[in-house]
Amino acid sequence: MALAVSAAPAAQSATEVLSARIGPGKTSTRFVLDLNTPVSFNVFTLEKPYRVVIDLPAVTWRLDPLRTPRGGLIRAFRYGHFRDNVSRVVLDVSRPVAIARAFVLPPKTGRIHRLVVDLRPVSAAEFSRHAKPKPAAAPRTDTAPIPLPKRRIPRSVKTVAIDPGHGGVDPGAIGVRGTREKRVTLSHALTLARKLRASGRYRVVLTRVRDVFVPLRMRVAIARRRAADIFISLHADSIRRSSVRGASIYTLSERASDRQAARLAAKENKADLIAGIDLNEQTSDVASFLIDLAQRQTMNDSADFARILTNEIGKVRPLLRNTHRFAGFAVLKAPDVPSVLVELGYLSNPSDERRLNQRRERERVTAAIVRAVDRYFAREQAFKR
Ligand SMILES: [Zn+2]
Repeated sequence: MALAVSAAPAAQSATEVLSARIGPGKTSTRFVLDLNTPVSFNVFTLEKPYRVVIDLPAVTWRLDPLRTPRGGLIRAFRYGHFRDNVSRVVLDVSRPVAIARAFVLPPKTGRIHRLVVDLRPVSAAEFSRHAKPKPAAAPRTDTAPIPLPKRRIPRSVKTVAIDPGHGGVDPGAIGVRGTREKRVTLSHALTLARKLRASGRYRVVLTRVRDVFVPLRMRVAIARRRAADIFISLHADSIRRSSVRGASIYTLSERASDRQAARLAAKENKADLIAGIDLNEQTSDVASFLIDLAQRQTMNDSADFARILTNEIGKVRPLLRNTHRFAGFAVLKAPDVPSVLVELGYLSNPSDERRLNQRRERERVTAAIVRAVDRYFAREQAFKR
């Protein structure tokens, strides 16, 4: 079901979302956003899993990250930048729902405009009887196949692709004190990029440089199109047991090294779903894949780099035991770019969270990654001699 509502447009960047509330009623659930101006919006439902998506013009979010309302039919809610001039809210709902009403209320007193969406429970059959959703077009995903290069041209200046995990409407993990993974990954990525560029030895490609959602496949495509020699995806996990801490490093494999690695890959692979993308309209290669022979050398190189990284990061950070693990991460699937995913630490652990927010610690860990990159390419040079 889709519903588009227009209102007199305000100066778009000036629109601020001040708070979000949920009113769990007996028969329906009301979701309310408080805004400083009226907005136009588009609301629609998705299935597998059941979600409600509200697209807005680009807005400024003023919500308290520690206060995440839920209740009634709404199990969880996320918000953030989606693409170009679209900001997005994604509601996870506990069952099939229909949008009963959606409207903007002008202020009765004061200056607060209210965007109201009323949801009512429906049967799965009724849900699928409704019209197809009309979501705002997803960011370009660069799905056109990129051929494998015939032969890598040896270059003195290597290209390093850095991938700050999550972003925009996908916040990633949330720390015990409210730190959002998407900010930690971006700050580390920008510091790492600066150090690599300053060395004069590397060209650097970033998959994002601001708080924006980037689909997983596009992250891979960016690295491949720029013929990156190595791909580093940065993350900071969160789990229920708050005593668990330390960095860990992951590479791609068909079968996971252990249950935690499998769980982590499943979670990280959900990024597109979390951002309110209809996976029914995509091919399923995010979910399953096969590794062909062409990928074998890339996987060996990835494992080599992971070993060097483990060694260097271990000098400056506590490590999770069995530091190098593997699983089916969608973002590590470039067949021709050695790729690793670094979990810098656990946002669910108070001391890790503190570290991940400290500039000094950020400088230390990114310097360790630079040393690992240096060692990795030096080893490659040694083979050639
Ligand atoms: Zn992550």
